[in-house]
Amino acid sequence: MTAFPDPELGEPYLLTPGPLTTSAEVKQAMLRDWGSWDGDFRAMTAEVRRRLLEIAGDTAGAYDCVPLQGSGSYCVEAMLGSFVPRDGKVLVLANGAYGLRAAETMRYLGRAFTLIDKGDYLPPRGAEVAQALAADPAITHVLAIHCETSSGILNPIPEIAEATAQAGRKLLIDSMSAFGAVPLDVRDLQVEAFVSSANKCIEGVPGFGFVIARKETLAGAKGNSHSLALDLHAQWATMEKTGQWRYTPPTHVVAAFVKALEMHRAEGGAPARLARYTRNRDTMVAGMRALGFETLLADSWLSPIIVTFFCPADPAFAFPRFYELMKDRGFIIYPGKLTVVDSFRIGCIGRMDDTVMNRVVTAAQQSLADMGVASAVPPASALAERANLAA
Ligand SMILES: *Cc1c(COP(=O)(O)O)cnc(C)c1O
Repeated sequence: MTAFPDPELGEPYLLTPGPLTTSAEVKQAMLRDWGSWDGDFRAMTAEVRRRLLEIAGDTAGAYDCVPLQGSGSYCVEAMLGSFVPRDGKVLVLANGAYGLRAAETMRYLGRAFTLIDKGDYLPPRGAEVAQALAADPAITHVLAIHCETSSGILNPIPEIAEATAQAGRKLLIDSMSAFGAVPLDVRDLQVEAFVSSANKCIEGVPGFGFVIARKETLAGAKGNSHSLALDLHAQWATMEKTGQWRYTPPTHVVAAFVKALEMHRAEGGAPARLARYTRNRDTMVAGMRALGFETLLADSWLSPIIVTFFCPADPAFAFPRFYELMKDRGFIIYPGKLTVVDSFRIGCIGRMDDTVMNRVVTAAQQSLADMGVASAVPPASALAERANLAA
């Protein structure tokens, strides 16, 4: 693969799932200005929409793609505000920060919701979704997180989709950190709409997200939205009519994204990307485990997107220092987001391969040595917490 960024040139790898490390080609694509009304830019927007629907498997033309300015959360809010009727009710499935953010969004919208909160990392299961839907006929929609990036767990979307469809309700998915690598195909899943953004598995730069939704859902969403700028029906209707975004588009970001989509296709599409990210994860996890580190999750729940590790028990270990030592070696890592035990995270996505991941492991080993940490084994309390998960 060409054009991996070179940290020797002073740019560290971002082992953080969005923003992430992008290719030189993607960065270069931003070096020219575009008129938002111009035919060339409108063609780029059309290309983006068409390619994303292709990745989603929409061969029947039942779905459409609506890009929207802002970060991923803007798209989640737009999806909830545009597709959930004002008298609708959402079952929010949370097991981390992004599920809780969706619930908070519902609270801001002032629309009804029920929350199933599984804590830091337990997966919401199909059976409990079925039970919750049977117990409350007022629920119209289910909101699920595909990969919950705060722990790295890959949630069981197929069984959640099955339970939702069985109960005759509509499924909305936050596939922000999964789409473009982890399978999400509208031919295999009964899904009303899902969202992702430019700066995750497609490996673009941040600045917009996109919603892929059934055309009938988009058409029926008129007048639902609480917000002018986040009204997906209006954005869609304008794009359909004029080929333009309603308000100033992030032109350079879109140009970079067109290049990122080209490279995604050249690599072999979502299956090839999944294979590379999986190799990244497997290489990195095996190396970290050899140093004594332990993952929060059992292998069956580990996503190829980001992995949570327990901090070592050794009192010489301090995460802020570990972070700086890793950065000195060219790698930006992520603090953990668990509420109960100390942890940190390492991302597997972005423009890098397993040779880079081997260097990450070496950097971790050297950083531990610099700190005088003899063993990366986590405290017994962390392992007890993990035993809870298995139970
Ligand atoms: C990145 C991400 C988001 C969006 O976060 P922003 O900071 O608004 O881009 C939402 N959900 C998940 C699961 C994510 O990984």
